[in-house]
Amino acid sequence: MAILVCGGAGYIGSHTVKELVNTYDVVVLDNLTTGFEKLIDSKATFVKGDLGDQVVLDEIFTTYKIDAVFHFAANSLVGESVEKPLTYYRNNVGATLVLLEKMIEHGVKRFIFSSTAATYGIPNTDIITEETATHPINPYGRSKQMIEQILADMAHVYDFHYIVLRYFNAAGAHESGEIGESHDPESHLIPIVLQHLLGQRKKISVFGTDYETADGTCVRDYIHVTDLARAHILSYEGMADGRVANNVYNLGNGAGYSVNEIIRTCERLSGKQATIDYAPRRAGDPAILVASSQKINEEIGWKPDFDLTAIIASAWKWHSK
Ligand code: UDP
Repeated sequence: MAILVCGGAGYIGSHTVKELVNTYDVVVLDNLTTGFEKLIDSKATFVKGDLGDQVVLDEIFTTYKIDAVFHFAANSLVGESVEKPLTYYRNNVGATLVLLEKMIEHGVKRFIFSSTAATYGIPNTDIITEETATHPINPYGRSKQMIEQILADMAHVYDFHYIVLRYFNAAGAHESGEIGESHDPESHLIPIVLQHLLGQRKKISVFGTDYETADGTCVRDYIHVTDLARAHILSYEGMADGRVANNVYNLGNGAGYSVNEIIRTCERLSGKQATIDYAPRRAGDPAILVASSQKINEEIGWKPDFDLTAIIASAWKWHSK
């Protein structure tokens, strides 16, 4: 039996593939629009194609005995989603529907879905649990919420089981130093700061200094990408054992760090000093997003291994190579 990883050439997908291949046969489906083939572990079988391509999916599901699908493939930039809502709904919702229909047709029953803290919108609490109301404030968050709702409806009528994982801020790089966080263009805070400290960018812009937080900059919960990868595998194994199904879990460290604190930690670990430009707020950014991950700890036995220093140290090691 194999696991199909959709989006296995992307940042979080490729790190999960690297963990999965230690134990499982893995097939990666990716169209390489935002992913990179070189990130895919050589022990995985790579199929280049679109998630929404029925012919490709029929081929995969008839060639390989797929036990579960891990679905990472998505457009994932909040700002871009506001500019291009139809692209986000077509790729994140439309293509996912094709995948889900093909899973039902071929009798594939297990699905792990990459969702996001963006489903919560502007939460009315500082520590977000899965009970916190979801009111996404941009098309990206809404596209993920739509699939969450579709999965719940499917599980009512089909022999189909899912787990939704709502990620907070993924960061860091694989311990091998072979793969790490790389987007083109890059918009994420930690890689931008590290690229700047390496002399690859002139300065860093801090988006907003007037938030209701201790130092006025946004607070986020950063989680190491390998901790995320392990959560997927534990979720899958819990589903395969029949212990868990049809549930939603947050994935974060439970600790919030401001943009200024991130920059200071990067400076400390690199021994270099940043040039900072204090800029206006970026559209769509809530002030504080911090997760409670107690539910996945209790029900699946997951807890993070990496704290902020270890996350940034791993990213620095990879970026400075
Ligand atoms: N941020 C920033 N400057 C940058 C990139 C990001 O100040 O060049 C801020 C951003 O406004 C947010 C936090 O850093 O408050 C994390 O942003 P990122 O894009 O890394 O992740 P997001 O929270 O949007 O998923």
